Amino acid sequence: MDLFEYAYKNQKKEESINPNIEKPLWKNSQYDFVSTLEELKQIALECRKCKLCLTRKNVVFGEGNPNADLMFIGEGPGKTEDETGRPFVGLAGQLLTRIIENGLKISRENVYIANVVKCRPTVEMKGEKDRPPDEEEVNACSPYLIRQIELIKPKIIITLGNPSTRFLLNTKLGITKLRGNVYYYKDIAVVPTYHPSFVLRNGGENSLLKKDVWEDMKIVLKLMQDLRIKSYKINDK
Ligand code: SF4
Repeated sequence: MDLFEYAYKNQKKEESINPNIEKPLWKNSQYDFVSTLEELKQIALECRKCKLCLTRKNVVFGEGNPNADLMFIGEGPGKTEDETGRPFVGLAGQLLTRIIENGLKISRENVYIANVVKCRPTVEMKGEKDRPPDEEEVNACSPYLIRQIELIKPKIIITLGNPSTRFLLNTKLGITKLRGNVYYYKDIAVVPTYHPSFVLRNGGENSLLKKDVWEDMKIVLKLMQDLRIKSYKINDK
């Protein structure tokens, strides 16, 4: 089965489970004038466009191969990420790294990892308990993400959890309904799956959700094969 047939089959599957999905928005970044990730990062490091700037320790811009074929997008930095300025470095990050390296056979350095919001959202801004970003924060921060996608030009985006999936697919549907299928943001294949933190909170290594994540990674592997993306090691690309 070639990529077209695969996408068509999944589109049909998507329609059958989700007839009301809204058309993805072709969102444009307000940072079209920025031509490199480093330049964009420097702007984000100074950003005060939403209230999350008041409690952050670091802006967590994202990291990885600037020419990555695969891009992972989570919701926002947690405590460890806020402290280090790096995405997905806590326990959830370790699980994500295992998914990337053991499941997809790609070095973490050769994918790109980012979040919808670049500063840590916490409950009541107390800097204690993490929470998903609210709509206002996502709207304020998303131009950075959109420009990151435009500059990196990945072939496949894996959205981790509700905020990034809902944002890219312009839908209010939840991850449980959406995962297991291929969607498109512009011409980029989007494969939604559970956020690693959600997996850890619901049974961790023994969680049944891990099986679903693996099923989603099999979709990614199939797309990689169809798009002729090889599994490469550090510095291969
Ligand atoms: S979350 Fe995004 S928009 Fe808000 S202050 Fe941080 S970088 Fe700026």
